[in-house]
Amino acid sequence: MHEQQEILYELWPEEQVEKKSHSRLYSLEPVRMGSPMVESLTSYIVRLAEAHSVYPRALILHEIVPLLKLLSLHQNGHFVYDCGEVSWKDSCILNGRTTQTGDMVQALEQLTSRHDLHFLTMLPWQFVLSSRKLLRRTRAWCPLCYQEWRNKNQTLYEPLLWSLEVINVCHRHRLRLQTRCPNSKCNQVQLPLSQHAQSGYCSRCNSWLGSLPQGEAGESLAFEDNEWAWQLWIVHSVGDLLSAAPALTDAPQRERILFTIDIYAEKLTRGQRVTLFHQLECNSSIENWFYKTQTLQLSHLLHFCFRLGASPLQLLLGNIEEAAVEKHTPVDMPTKRYWKFDEERIQQMLEAILKSEGSSPSMEEVARQLGYKYRQIYKRFPELCRAISAKYMASPIFTKTVQVTLGVTRSITIQQQCRRFDSERVLQALESPSQSDIKKLKRQKECREFS
Ligand SMILES: [Zn+2]
Ligand SMILES: [Zn+2]
Repeated sequence: MHEQQEILYELWPEEQVEKKSHSRLYSLEPVRMGSPMVESLTSYIVRLAEAHSVYPRALILHEIVPLLKLLSLHQNGHFVYDCGEVSWKDSCILNGRTTQTGDMVQALEQLTSRHDLHFLTMLPWQFVLSSRKLLRRTRAWCPLCYQEWRNKNQTLYEPLLWSLEVINVCHRHRLRLQTRCPNSKCNQVQLPLSQHAQSGYCSRCNSWLGSLPQGEAGESLAFEDNEWAWQLWIVHSVGDLLSAAPALTDAPQRERILFTIDIYAEKLTRGQRVTLFHQLECNSSIENWFYKTQTLQLSHLLHFCFRLGASPLQLLLGNIEEAAVEKHTPVDMPTKRYWKFDEERIQQMLEAILKSEGSSPSMEEVARQLGYKYRQIYKRFPELCRAISAKYMASPIFTKTVQVTLGVTRSITIQQQCRRFDSERVLQALESPSQSDIKKLKRQKECREFS
């Protein structure tokens, strides 16, 4: 008896047992967190509802509505997902980067006692990526992924990747994502979150989504190599963003990215960012990133990075990639060159032109070939310059040029006027000179040499 009492005493420790808090709903683990194939928030809501043997509508109305009084999820005093079909049609934003997304994440984290559900959305990129054309408004899926997961008895879910508008293919199966129910009698599109949604099944007719419509396989697999390379690059680049999100210490900021682009412009186009955009043949809307406070459209960012040869993730983190810099030939902007005027060489050249048989080039052309301005040469060798110009204007080439330029047959008269450099009289020689005629004529710099 005495021994038994001692044993019982040992079973009860002196300190108080710590009271553990429990979540109201299952603390369901998101699928593939921190990987390119991380689950979307709408998929998580569907699976959370399935885990409690209810439909998403019941989960939202009976658990989230009483909990939340957040304005973004209410309109006219009613919870938006209880207002009929219209609100469910906008359910794609729950995977995005808006206030509604944040409110839904907050509600679910409170119910499940989790602190990582915002990584199932685009919220980590809210300060840099625009909502414009970010999310597709209907479900998209890879049937072969669904079938494979079911064969391997793995969790059926929807990756966040599939909810983004820029993603059109499954990189694992080289297949276009499907957007219509494979059941020929249904063949309808699906909302990202619907009242009776189930993972892997059509929310309208409950058909299995893991099969291809008849005759679809061959057509879907037909990718041109160029197109496939581009699609694959998009998937990997966006996948990098999604997998990196949980490891970020700070949310990437727009200003930092613009600063990084300016560094690229400094290295490649001597700081001329507009030249950089033109060189990369980017959409002109990219230039607006700098002049307005708008965030970046994901598709534009991808085009810019693809042509630059940089990773979107590294750009958003503000990192310069040397490989991207080396890929391009820096634009050589004209710089002022100062060198000694080689009088002896120039004189020899001018004399040689004058002595040569046949027609002579214009002094403008001669100066360009010698690498000097015409005025520099004329200042030192006025006689030689006049002689070369006279030779040029006496040549058939000049006559023809004037004829073409002015578009009249009275070129000889004009040529004579030019010799006296009386431009007013030259213009009078024309019956009705237009403004462009006058400009073209004035461009004949040879006339000026006689002033
Ligand atoms: Zn697939
Ligand atoms: Zn269906």
